[in-house]
Amino acid sequence: MEDVKLDLNRICLDKEDPMLNAEVRCNHGLLLHLKTSWSDNNSGRRFWSCTYYGSNKCNFFLWRDGVIDERSKFIISKLAKKVKDMNEMLKIMKMKEELVGAYSDREIMEMEVESAFTQIEEQCRSFVKMKDECFLYGG
Ligand SMILES: [Zn+2]
Repeated sequence: MEDVKLDLNRICLDKEDPMLNAEVRCNHGLLLHLKTSWSDNNSGRRFWSCTYYGSNKCNFFLWRDGVIDERSKFIISKLAKKVKDMNEMLKIMKMKEELVGAYSDREIMEMEVESAFTQIEEQCRSFVKMKDECFLYGG
């Protein structure tokens, strides 16, 4: 899911957002970056939080966006899943490409010859069939 999150962050980055480069600091003065949540309940919702959030060092957490309505939650999770599926498909396609690349030219030539033979065989069979039918109907 990590690479999907990176993809989603890239796709959903709003460069026009005036708060993108806002100087937000936590209670102990760290400069925070605007992040995006991809959890089921807050998919696509941006926030600032201290790296130490959750420990007893710092409890700074601030949402940039309001609560996400149910319909948007539904749609965002569907689209996120679609991105995940497409990434997986792309990985498989790249793997296949690498596999094909692993064959030597000679092996590929042999495969082509083999498929050419299969085609010729099929043509012969249909020619014979046609001839038989001509014979049948003619005689
Ligand atoms: Zn902090």
